[in-house]
Amino acid sequence: MYQLSQKPLISTEEIKSRVEALSKEILEVFDFDIMVSTLTGAFMFSADLCRAMGNKNHKIAFIKASSYLGTESSGSVAVDGLDSLNLQGLKVLLVDDIIDTGCTLKHLVNAIKEKNPKAIRTCVLINKTECRQVTFEADFEGFKIGNEFVVGYGLDYNQQYRTLPQVWVLENTHVQ
Ligand code: IMP
Ligand code: MG
Repeated sequence: MYQLSQKPLISTEEIKSRVEALSKEILEVFDFDIMVSTLTGAFMFSADLCRAMGNKNHKIAFIKASSYLGTESSGSVAVDGLDSLNLQGLKVLLVDDIIDTGCTLKHLVNAIKEKNPKAIRTCVLINKTECRQVTFEADFEGFKIGNEFVVGYGLDYNQQYRTLPQVWVLENTHVQ
């Protein structure tokens, strides 16, 4: 059995101010042409990042990466929507919800590099710093957290909780 933590781990106010700062940070160092957002987890984060970037007026595309079943990584990454995307010569900002083992982001970056972009940088809302299984770090990140399973603001547990405006810890109530 799982339940949400008593209060959010990251509040809407904290998300808003971090997203605004992060968008400035990105624009200062990486003048990208296209944001590639990974569905479904990054839908809210990437929309808020775009809004915070004001009149930058960049392109946006969505790809789908699936690697997770329940709260355990399945280890394999399936990518949809990349084949039809032309990234040749473009500066790409890849946006994902969270970096955990690192497998998804590393896999996506390698897949995007095969499309001959001019440059690629990565941005995640949350960095689970203790969970890496492959050597990979995002170029930009919103928040660092420990080894806990979080939901809300796009992040799900079996497709639930994505639309909550805050980030919550999903607690396991089955104490052994
Ligand atoms: P990685 O390949 O292990 O880095 O996992 C990345 C993907 O796993 C993310 O894009 C999420 O979809 C999912 N994921 C990892 N940790 C969490 C979590 O705490 N909550 C919800 N989804 C997660
Ligand atoms: Mg995801």
